[in-house]
Amino acid sequence: MVRTIVGANWGDEGKGKITDMLAGESDIVVRFQGGANAGHTIINDYGRFALHLLPSGVFNPSVVNVIGPGVALDIEALLSELEGVVQAGVPTPQLLVSERAQVMMPYHVQLDCYEEERLGAHSFGSTKSGIAPFYGDKYQKIGLQLCQLYYPDVLREKLEHALSIKNALMEHLYHKPPIDLEALITHMTGLAERIRPYVCDTNRYLHEACKAGKRILLEGQLGTLRDPDHGIYPMTTSSSPLAGYGPVGAGVPLWAMSDVIAVTKAYSSCVGSGPFTTELFGEEAQALRIRGGDKGEFGAKTGRPRRVGWFDAVATRYGCMMQGATYVALTNLDVLGYLEQIPVCVAYEIDGERIEHFPVTPLLERAKPVYEALPGWMCDTRGIKRFEDLPENARRYVETLEKLIGVPVRFVSNGPRRDEIIVR
Ligand code: GDP
Repeated sequence: MVRTIVGANWGDEGKGKITDMLAGESDIVVRFQGGANAGHTIINDYGRFALHLLPSGVFNPSVVNVIGPGVALDIEALLSELEGVVQAGVPTPQLLVSERAQVMMPYHVQLDCYEEERLGAHSFGSTKSGIAPFYGDKYQKIGLQLCQLYYPDVLREKLEHALSIKNALMEHLYHKPPIDLEALITHMTGLAERIRPYVCDTNRYLHEACKAGKRILLEGQLGTLRDPDHGIYPMTTSSSPLAGYGPVGAGVPLWAMSDVIAVTKAYSSCVGSGPFTTELFGEEAQALRIRGGDKGEFGAKTGRPRRVGWFDAVATRYGCMMQGATYVALTNLDVLGYLEQIPVCVAYEIDGERIEHFPVTPLLERAKPVYEALPGWMCDTRGIKRFEDLPENARRYVETLEKLIGVPVRFVSNGPRRDEIIVR
């Protein structure tokens, strides 16, 4: 049985917490896309962690954590994260890395930085982790799979070819020093040796696990609206964060797929650029931002202040639809306890017309939110364990969102810690 946890919105919905929680009832947790460019914040008995590449199952010693072939594998980032977790007192996690995972090269990170610098005011707001150049190379077929690092002739030939292109860019577009082939081969060979103990055929392992009826959790990064096909292109990421990509990026059979859990916040938050219809500014934004998440709404990867806004039912309904969500985990409900009234965006107005479906990006950029205000509950709900014990207005808020999204809300999270959860 394979369950998938994904984001319904722009990312940062609180997937890490839900994955960490459900990892306790899973045998295997798999990352299937993205790279070290985003972060899951997890708070449990070991402390507070911002995981970027490690699957969120690493805190459960019985869980096998897998980096699937769809991931942008930054070997150094992965190994240093692993070291950090162990240094914090977590029992050494079980980790398997797909031999087919593509490797993030140092020049991907450099090119990401140089390109954002070149674009200036038109930059994409990249986290500068190399993601766009990495996936560009993968689909241009000049990337390297992890397995290729173990064949010196193959490595040299592939890098010679890649550098013939990269160094032309370095020199003529970015006016930077060229990359030295020999130094790069030595560096990558060293990294290949360090990661060797974890490398294996994860496809075979996961297919066997499915046949044996193991409980597998696929962990998505970012959210629907950052999908290159179905999101707010081009303000998207470069790999698909959709549950539909899960079986491909993880390497598990389609027949084993079961629930898709879409995570959404009780309000909206967004890191990076692009249209964000319910965005708040000024004092109203700051009031929400400082209360959001566990330490305010600041990016787990970048520390950048996140853009915040009211709950957007149009975007979230679409987000859940494209994820094929079977149920929803609604997080951060506790954050809204300071508000007398809580606006919820129920439709968009575009060129004077009311629209309830999520439009294409050029129209979205002109959309204005149509709000309905729901009464707040004006108290702290942290510590409440049963839905019926929530204040009536908090229950109404959840039930209204559920109706608007059209997918059952199974989990209500009312605090950042693993145990601060209401199961309905
Ligand atoms: P992810 O990438 O989807 O895992 O999300 P992030 O970890 O980037 O952001 C979610 C933020 O919300 C983190 O700071 C979490 O600790 C925090 N969080 C998750 N669930 C809750 C909740 O129910 N209440 C509060 N206050 N914070 C939460």
